[in-house]
Amino acid sequence: MNELKEKCGIVGIYGKNLPVSKLAFFALFALQHQVYKEKDIENLKGHISIGHNRYSTSGGGALDHAQPVINMDNSFALAHNGNLPSVASLLKFLSSKKALRKNRMDSELIADVIDFYIKKGNSLEKSVKKTFPLITGAFSLVMMNKDTLIAVRDAYGMRPLALGKIGKGYVIASETCALHTIGATFSKEIQPGEMIVINESGIKSVQLAKPNPNHDVFEYVYFARPDSVLNDKLIYEVRKNFGKTLAHEFKLEVDAIVPVPDTATPVALGYSEVSGIPIEMALVKNRYVHRTFIEPDQKSRRHSVALKLIPLPQVLKGKKIAVIDDSIVRGNTCKRLVETFFKSGAKEVHLLISSPPIRFPDFYGMDTPNQNELIASHKNTEEIRKFLGATSLHYLSLDGLIKSIGLPKKHLSTSCFTGIYPIDLKERKDEVNYDVPKE
Ligand code: 5GP
Ligand code: MG
Repeated sequence: MNELKEKCGIVGIYGKNLPVSKLAFFALFALQHQVYKEKDIENLKGHISIGHNRYSTSGGGALDHAQPVINMDNSFALAHNGNLPSVASLLKFLSSKKALRKNRMDSELIADVIDFYIKKGNSLEKSVKKTFPLITGAFSLVMMNKDTLIAVRDAYGMRPLALGKIGKGYVIASETCALHTIGATFSKEIQPGEMIVINESGIKSVQLAKPNPNHDVFEYVYFARPDSVLNDKLIYEVRKNFGKTLAHEFKLEVDAIVPVPDTATPVALGYSEVSGIPIEMALVKNRYVHRTFIEPDQKSRRHSVALKLIPLPQVLKGKKIAVIDDSIVRGNTCKRLVETFFKSGAKEVHLLISSPPIRFPDFYGMDTPNQNELIASHKNTEEIRKFLGATSLHYLSLDGLIKSIGLPKKHLSTSCFTGIYPIDLKERKDEVNYDVPKE
């Protein structure tokens, strides 16, 4: 599996007399969906809908594995946010039942097992219950058949999932920001290991496994939208805290702070509030260009960084600046930015990063392609600084990150920074190299 997945979004809507497909469309829009047009969904009628979004992957062909996954007789659909490092149990089960199809990816394998149980005469609820123990990994799922909407979150709560109310109906969404967009009110976060079943008889909750919360810190660092709330923490506030903590950890003598929009903007506000150093929005985002992370190859990625973020030389000339960004993955974005700032006349370019060095690959969400491509897996901070050409480089400490989020350390998954993987990687364990720089 050598592809790079980015943040996915999922939604599920249930309500008689509600325009459920239209609501799902707008909710996906909040989760940054880009494929459907409003008229595409106008003819979709019914009282239950689910939807899913995903950015293209490095292999291109984004539609090959488009979701929701729909079974062969169109009676059941599933949307999955997250990633399963190991699918061994699902594969073993399906092949023992002679129900294994070729080239099925993780989400499709889950759907195939559920479908197997449905075909045996089980209800959707019962089929999901029976399938749950076979799924190893990070998953928030929404599923539907003609009368029931079901949502399930893995026992670790790795990916978020929230429940909301709209009129007499219900909404499930991977981020709370999608609820507000469609006028729904937040009811609660679906708990790790919890299943929610909504149908004619109402709504019920079934705990399928003991909760063992290990929420992915990357939701706070980069994935989630600033207007989403996760574990009672507003993402905007958490990111502001990152900036405040950075200001306590690293005092810089600079003329201005320049955030890399959009994620780092609240971080810069926090840094400025504590340090008293003013912010300059000297990097302007071209709103017509999509994110760079999804570009399949290095060259086009580099090109789109230049298109996407435009510096203001009039503001930068002769200044010592501290540039704030959320994370360094491969290092391309930052290298390009440092060059741009110096070219625009900046005298010193210090870098502040609101997360620790990413030394280990991700298996639960974005599925980074290869540990070698992570710059911090083989360069220490000083070597990275040199590579980027920055005056200085400072990463937020792991303790600072956790303190800023405000949840207990044991409830957070920090695998990309620490190499500690709360969900067993099983057959993929060997992909992790622990011989990484210490500093
Ligand atoms: P790179 O270092 O790979 O050139 O780019 C890192 C930048 O890409 C980060 O600043 C971040 O804002 C952005 N980015 C886009 N998608 C992702 C993602 O899925 N994870 C992380 N950590 N950063 C991402
Ligand atoms: Mg960025």
